[in-house]
Order: sequence, then structure tokens, then C-alpha cells
Amino acid sequence: MTEHPKVTTESASAPVPFIDLAAQRRRLGPAIDEAIARVLAHGQYILGPEVRLLEADLAGFCGAKHVISCSNGTDALALILRAKGIKAGDAVFCPSFTFAATAEVVAWFGATPVFVDVFPDTFNMDPGSLERAITAAKQLGLRPACVIVVDLFGQSADYDAIAPVCDAHKLWILDDAAQSFGATYKGRKIGTFGLATATSFFPAKPLGCYGDGGAIFTDDVELAELLRSLRVHGQGVDKYDNTRIGINGRLDTIQAAVLIEKLKIFPDEIEKRDVIARRYNEALKDVAVVPRVMDGLVSTWAQYTIRIGNGRRDGVAVALKAQGIPTAIYYPKPLHRQTAYRGYPTPGNGLPVSDAIAQEVISLPMHPYLAPELQDRIVNAVRAALT
Ligand SMILES: *Cc1c(COP(=O)(O)O)cnc(C)c1O
Repeated sequence: MTEHPKVTTESASAPVPFIDLAAQRRRLGPAIDEAIARVLAHGQYILGPEVRLLEADLAGFCGAKHVISCSNGTDALALILRAKGIKAGDAVFCPSFTFAATAEVVAWFGATPVFVDVFPDTFNMDPGSLERAITAAKQLGLRPACVIVVDLFGQSADYDAIAPVCDAHKLWILDDAAQSFGATYKGRKIGTFGLATATSFFPAKPLGCYGDGGAIFTDDVELAELLRSLRVHGQGVDKYDNTRIGINGRLDTIQAAVLIEKLKIFPDEIEKRDVIARRYNEALKDVAVVPRVMDGLVSTWAQYTIRIGNGRRDGVAVALKAQGIPTAIYYPKPLHRQTAYRGYPTPGNGLPVSDAIAQEVISLPMHPYLAPELQDRIVNAVRAALT
């Protein structure tokens, strides 16, 4: 046996990372190490100068007037609800087909998450189901207060369709953009929709730091000031003047320094993700239901998620795993089927799409540095498992 074929065989079955953060680190070279070293040198670990610099960079990036960085995406959502005084008796409408944090924060304040169904092709909120959820909430004697719109897997929800329903019922919009910061809706960047937007810098999100982090975006100056106070224990003129009940919700200076460097290459990374997603779509559209991006939208492709029906999804996952290719199921169980959330209201006709797609979705490796050869290996494995 010569050495060459052996190496080829090994690399053809070498484990594929689901998200390759190491490749990004190689690209950034010493930039992040140097940014962290600068923080270590000045020593302002809490709300140091990088935090304000990052907030300005993020505002410039998306066009929001005010950016308040914070500890994580969940706290970003919670701080907004807290600032708006969400309380027991309030109905807060949100999808069931999302990560638990979206509904969790509503329950924190004693308010009631009311679940809304999604469209099967974009995975995002269906305004018709929102109407039915509002009716259901009113019948239960709840006060409709707010809609948490989730931009799932990186694609913005259809704001032009959802906003009229919210306006008609005087509901304000919170955009859960934990997966979609960087995305564009009809020429406008995420971060500028609704009253406020929350995002996450969890390492696996499209723009991730090296730990937990998050941010809030709003054009409302009074809300921004309130959020800055709530982020630091409800501080007034200084940190020993407490004018309201808040939390410890700051972003670490070191994480801000990391994000400043990563934001510089983020637009290019979004383009690379889009090229990879289009390539997947072309190669898989005849064997699976591939994700649809609405006209005029740019997704960040936080996940590349296809649908495989007829009970064949789990077999595909097993077949890929045997070839060193990881997959993930986002989400195997919609929230209204989860032990912690199944007591909360749903629209009169239930959530048939959320229930159906939970059985069919499967996410493939997706990151900006997925080489064409690796992508071909993934595509061929999916096709082989299905044909
Ligand atoms: C990741 C995520 C969150 C929570 O963000 P953390 O930073 O992990 O707290 C909230 N909503 C959605 C849709 C998410 O994907």
C-alpha cells in the first residue's frame, strides 16, 4: 500500500465540524489575541472602552440609533420586557418553533407566552396564526401586550405582513434576532424593526464571541436610557444610586474586544454563508425540501435546515454520522409540547405546522469556511441516504 491512497481515504471520512470556529480564528490571525492583550493591559474589565466602541460599531453596522450590549441574548430579551413593564395578565405572542429562551423570559415576569404557528417554508411567524392566537388570548381574559417575532435560522420574519396585525391590536414588536443579526429585510438591516431588537453573541451564532454576550437595538432614546440603567442594577446617577430594580447584565470588555475584530469580517462571512447555502439548495432541491429565502431578503444562515418527510429524517442523520458528518435537529419538540411550556395557550386550531416540521427538520454543517469539497461530501452523503 502506498501512502497516498491511505491519506485520501482518511480525509474522505475525517470528521467534519458542524461549525468551524478554528478556521475563523486562523483567518483572523493575531488580531483577536492582540485585542484581548490590550484589555489585559488597560485592565478595565467591566464596561471598559471596547464596550462603547463595539456599541458604536454595531449601531453603524445595522443603522439602529441606540445599542446596549449585554450579558447574553436571553438577558437582552428579558431586559426589554422588564423595561416595558411586562407583567402577570399580559399575553406575549411568540412562535413555538424556536429556542426556549424566547418564551422563557415571558414566563419570568409572570406573563403568559401565547404560542403562534409558523410557515413551513421560511420557519417564521404566520400572521394568520397570530390573529387566531390574539383571539384565543382574549377569550382567556389575558391582555394582549407584545409580539416577540423570531427571525429563525437567520432569515428575517415577514415584517410587512406581521406589523399590520400588531398595529390593529396595538401590540408592540420585540425582534428576537439571536440568530439573524446581520440579515437584511428588503434593504433594511435587522436591528431596526419593531420597538426593540435582541441579539446573542453565543459562540455558535453567526456573530459570536468567546463566551456569552448579547445586545439590544432600539431607536427609542428613553427606552435606551432605561435599558442602560436596568443593565447595571437599575442605577441612577451612579452605581450606588439605585432608582429601579435591575440586574447584572453587562457584556465583558474582553468579549467586546473580540467582537470588534469579528465584526470587521462579518459582512464577508455573511456573503460566504450565502454562497454555501445556495450551493446546498441547488444540490439538494430534488431530494429534500430546501429552505426558501423570501425575495429581497438576505439570511445570515445561522442554520441550514432542510426538511425530509415520511419518517426518513432520522435515518439520514444516522447515515451521515457514520461518515463523520454531524447534523442537528432544530427543533425536535416545539415549545408547546415541552413539559415546562405545555400549559400555555395556543390558537384554536393548534400549531399544526410546528408539530409537523419538528418531525422533518435536519440542519447540516454551516459556516463561512466550509470548503466546496467538504460540502460535496455532505451533499453526496445526504443524496446517497435518500436515493
Ligand atoms: C440563542 C438564542 C437565544 C438566547 O441567546 P443566549 O445568548 O444563548 O442567551 C434566544 N432566542 C433564540 C431564537 C436563540 O437562538
